[in-house]
Amino acid sequence: MKAHVVAVLDEQRAAFLSGDDDAGGEAVIAAAAQRLARDAARSLTGVLNGTGVLLHTNLGRAPLADEALDAIRDAAAGYSNLEFDLESGERGSRYDRLGGLLRVATGAEASLVVNNCAAAMLLIFDTFARGREAIVARNALIEIGGGFRLPDVLARSGATLVEVGATNKVYAADFARALSPNSGIILRAHPSNYRISGFVADVTPADLVALGRRAGVPVVEDLGTGALFDLRAYGLPHERTAGEAITDGMDLVAFSGDKLLGGPQAGIIVGGASAIARLRANPLLRALRVDKATLAALGATLRLHVDPATRERIPLYRMLATPVDALRERARALQRQFPALAVVDTEAFAGGGSLPLDPIASAGVAFLPAGGATPALARLRAAAPPLVARIDDARVVIDLRTIDPTDDVRVAGALAALFAAN
Ligand SMILES: *Cc1c(COP(=O)(O)O)cnc(C)c1O
Repeated sequence: MKAHVVAVLDEQRAAFLSGDDDAGGEAVIAAAAQRLARDAARSLTGVLNGTGVLLHTNLGRAPLADEALDAIRDAAAGYSNLEFDLESGERGSRYDRLGGLLRVATGAEASLVVNNCAAAMLLIFDTFARGREAIVARNALIEIGGGFRLPDVLARSGATLVEVGATNKVYAADFARALSPNSGIILRAHPSNYRISGFVADVTPADLVALGRRAGVPVVEDLGTGALFDLRAYGLPHERTAGEAITDGMDLVAFSGDKLLGGPQAGIIVGGASAIARLRANPLLRALRVDKATLAALGATLRLHVDPATRERIPLYRMLATPVDALRERARALQRQFPALAVVDTEAFAGGGSLPLDPIASAGVAFLPAGGATPALARLRAAAPPLVARIDDARVVIDLRTIDPTDDVRVAGALAALFAAN
């Protein structure tokens, strides 16, 4: 605060010396307080997500389960066996800590966890495709958010991209023709955020694996979203799971920890023991390594996944499982406090590059602000905690599926401040 007061006073002094009127003490305090608030908003802070996008990359993707937070505390408040084998009393590997859980969750022989899925792909390319060729179908040359563009990441790791097929149609024969003594990997990538439909053909994962086996070339799948079980249980369309990719025989499968897994940011690689051993031997791994807090949170989240009875303790699945009626009921409670609100049915989305085109029935509150929706959104973002809402047809909409019921009182607080100011 003091630094802000000094800065404001300096400005006032300069303004006064160049002939402006004295702004007075109140104005100085107000200006300093405004700077302080701006500082707070720029540093990392919790927000209320009223957007209805469950895995909102800009809002930190998956909220963590209480069990995951407890595990972080447990592992990070003191010392841990991060790289220490408690049986032998000798040095151990952090990469062994989640092996058993990931085997149960995906059926894979071996695993490795790195910083995120982008790091996982970088490590895989560097290990298997540096100075060699990576064969990719033209329908899978993905760009996901944040500048991750598959062809560019491949080029960065010194691999030569060999594109096969057409954008809409790719056949096994296209891959077969592209195989050469210099083939490093065959790559399959999940089209997370787009869909090619109409006059299309694609190669089945099993056919790709068969081709790779015959040629002795590892087949790798960038799965991205990382579903661990059939999402139809939550009324969503089927999303390919890590276990299915392993069953199809993929040598390596990479996915994110903070998308449909509902855990911390991490890149999980599962696959055959020999392929994983080669990744572990790559010195680049040291720069991509995952920290103890992430391992702790990921372990706790995987444990909740393994037993379907505990899955909904993961906030993502709790939010997905909430009946629309329960959301409407909460919306009506807000409406009773603020008669300007309307209870509305909305469409929520999984987000995080998963199921981008499949809406999830949801509900929330909406209102038409007198001064326009954009300034009203800004006011809500200035609340404590900030509330991020969205605009639909000039109305401000707050989707309640992505807001924890215990936070409804804070939503009410943000709305009270907004309506009081109007
Ligand atoms: C999201 C995604 C990635 C990147 O994952 P991060 O964990 O954000 O690095 C890579 N590939 C695909 C297909 C994705 O959907």
